[in-house]
Amino acid sequence: MLGVKATESKGFVWLLGAGPGAADLITVRGLKLLQAAEAVVYDELANDELLKNCPAGCELHAVGKRAGQHSATQGEINTLLVSLARAGKRVVRLKGGDPLIFGRAGEEIEALRTAGLPFEIVPGVTAATASAAVACLPLTHRDFSSAVVFVTGHQCAANTSALDWGALAKLRATLCFYMGVRRLPEIAHNLLAHGMPADLPLALICEATLPTQRIVITTLGAAEKISADQISQPALVVIGEVVRLADFAAQVPEFVGRDR
Ligand code: SAH
Repeated sequence: MLGVKATESKGFVWLLGAGPGAADLITVRGLKLLQAAEAVVYDELANDELLKNCPAGCELHAVGKRAGQHSATQGEINTLLVSLARAGKRVVRLKGGDPLIFGRAGEEIEALRTAGLPFEIVPGVTAATASAAVACLPLTHRDFSSAVVFVTGHQCAANTSALDWGALAKLRATLCFYMGVRRLPEIAHNLLAHGMPADLPLALICEATLPTQRIVITTLGAAEKISADQISQPALVVIGEVVRLADFAAQVPEFVGRDR
């Protein structure tokens, strides 16, 4: 079986990227691991459709993590992974997108290492690349942007931000904010205060790759006034010159809104 070595068939954890939303954006290795799993511990962001691939009798543990409503703490998840693997099970820890990008995989790795348990990380398509794809928006471009930064919006509150906004504003990079919707006015405010132009284009890519996907193109200046209840989630915020190249009308026939 691809991805499962004979010596690893028992008491093993795979930290597996489910991809951004559409169930067929998981990797082939990921799919095969789900088909052989004895226990799956999954997040809300992982598409439920994927669970249909698990064999009969596979234990399913929902540890949903949506903004503001954690149904299990990270400590509880770590303990669950360790106990399932100690019981000799093939455990899949299914995470939205890629496990190593804002997925708290670092803490799970540490727990598994401390417990002396074997594990493997299987990458997934992360929200930034999936969102860029559906908006036909190149994250890098020889003329406009030679760097991409993945930033968490969680730490963007104006008074407590640990981010170096001056450095971000100066980079001339494409900035991708994960979990940035609730902090969008503060993100825009901080970047504007550090010299980014108000007419810099900004894309909000909501529920990328799902049937409910929606793409809105606006500007950094206008984003200061956008409130979270106007945006369906999960959504990614992309800021930079490359957003001018976004062209999704032809590619995404179901899109609901295009605000320029
Ligand atoms: N590990 C995940 C990210 C988890 S953080 C990954 O690699 O994609 C959760 C954030 O990811 C959300 O707040 C949102 O900003 C982004 N996100 C996840 N799925 C998304 C989707 N389908 N469309 C747009 N953004 C998404």
